Amino acid sequence: HAPSPRSNAKAEFVVVANRLPVDLERSEDGTQRWTQSPGGLVSALEPFLRSRKGAWVGWPGVPDVEVEEFSDDGLILHPVSLTSDDVREYYEGFSNATLWPLYHDVVARPVFDRGWWDSYVRVNRRFAEASAAVAREGATVWVQDYQLQLVPTMLRELRPDLRIGFFLHIPFPPVELFMQLPWRAEIVRGLIGADLVGFHRPGGAQNFLWLARQLIGLEPSRGSVGVRSRPGMVQVGDRTVRVGAFPISIDAAGLDALARSKPVQERAAQVRRELGDPKTILLGVDRLDYTKGIDLRLQAFHELLQEGRVQPEDVTFIQLATPSRERVEHYQEMRSEIEQMVGRINGEFGRVGHPAVHYLHQSVDRSELAAFFSAADVMVVTPLRDGMNLVCKEYVACRHDLGGALVLSEFAGAAAELSSAFLVNPHDLDGVKNALEQAITLDPAEGRRRMRALRRQVLTHDVDRWARSFLEALGTEVSA
Ligand code: ADP
Repeated sequence: HAPSPRSNAKAEFVVVANRLPVDLERSEDGTQRWTQSPGGLVSALEPFLRSRKGAWVGWPGVPDVEVEEFSDDGLILHPVSLTSDDVREYYEGFSNATLWPLYHDVVARPVFDRGWWDSYVRVNRRFAEASAAVAREGATVWVQDYQLQLVPTMLRELRPDLRIGFFLHIPFPPVELFMQLPWRAEIVRGLIGADLVGFHRPGGAQNFLWLARQLIGLEPSRGSVGVRSRPGMVQVGDRTVRVGAFPISIDAAGLDALARSKPVQERAAQVRRELGDPKTILLGVDRLDYTKGIDLRLQAFHELLQEGRVQPEDVTFIQLATPSRERVEHYQEMRSEIEQMVGRINGEFGRVGHPAVHYLHQSVDRSELAAFFSAADVMVVTPLRDGMNLVCKEYVACRHDLGGALVLSEFAGAAAELSSAFLVNPHDLDGVKNALEQAITLDPAEGRRRMRALRRQVLTHDVDRWARSFLEALGTEVSA
């Protein structure tokens, strides 16, 4: 990965996100290098970024460094610097300890800190200024996610010529919860600077429209918002702002092909052998986050073992948990709780060489993940709240064999699309236990019927369709 020298060309299409699609890595001896950080968003937007003159504005992931704009294979990468204080206040503080819990149904108590808010405003302004500096006259700028909700209006003030889109990747909360935020009107005003404000679900769009009326006195349309269609509208001076629902997805075809490959299939068989060939493998794959309901599914599994409804020699649980936000206190506590639960279950039900729960606090690469998905008989996805949840879609994309079953929380955005899953209310532990038992004892023909329906949905609604539908609604040419 060798960046070419600085490019001064201005971009026609700009993505603005908290993070750049590459990470700066600094080693002990002071040398620096860029590493690719391949996320779903990057691969989804890459075709659009490369087919026109594209730029990506974001933080390189390391505090207290100034990095010049550079060009990588035609894409302009425009770094925004954050100091350690910015990281603590804007990122770990306001973004991840205020907005994240508030927008996820107050699963944890949000912290309202005035200093963090000031930092959020300052950093959002820096992102807006950086975006204004790279965007060509009349360019399209697509702002991403909860860390940057003030950017649309700040950018519009600097550059009224731009077409501005905003997409929220996490849930937009019920209005009663949003109203707790001391800076609620400022956030709504920040977002309304966009020409199109997008959410995963129509409910989020409708909540936003209601708040635009209540908090800033606008008069939004009253009709119900559709999925990828019938956006809500609100007039702001001489501008019409559209507000719509665009459920995000995955590179389904890419993952399907990977899962079909020989190395992945062989690795899946090897995983099963190494586990001692259990009848049933249960799998959880998450970032280690308190919204994901990892504790709930472990508790459900524990009780099923205690009640003798599943046998430890038949059933093995694998939980992969990516380390996440390790400096935020709530995450440290949750990690200890989960690790204690795993220890307790294994203490009671493990045998030498055969733990009941295999817990990996690690990130695994894409092929290894596809192998786990291919090996798992029951995928357990039980968030208390999740904007979309991509893991359940990834599982489905890996099951070309029509094997496996999906247990999915109703409170994941994906539940609206994946109605052939075993849908559960994660707060209802008995319901979760029943669904797990049903999925474990599922009749294979019924399983195939369900998986066929799930795959039809996931393979026809991929991330490319998501990006196109958003950009079309924004009125951008999408010939790419
Ligand atoms: P969130 O964005 O809240 O973390 P999503 O389910 O939408 O949740 O996306 C999580 C992404 O991270 C998925 O693409 C998933 O495959 C990946 N992921 C989660 N846990 C792991 C892990 N242990 N190893 C590798 N990838 C993981």
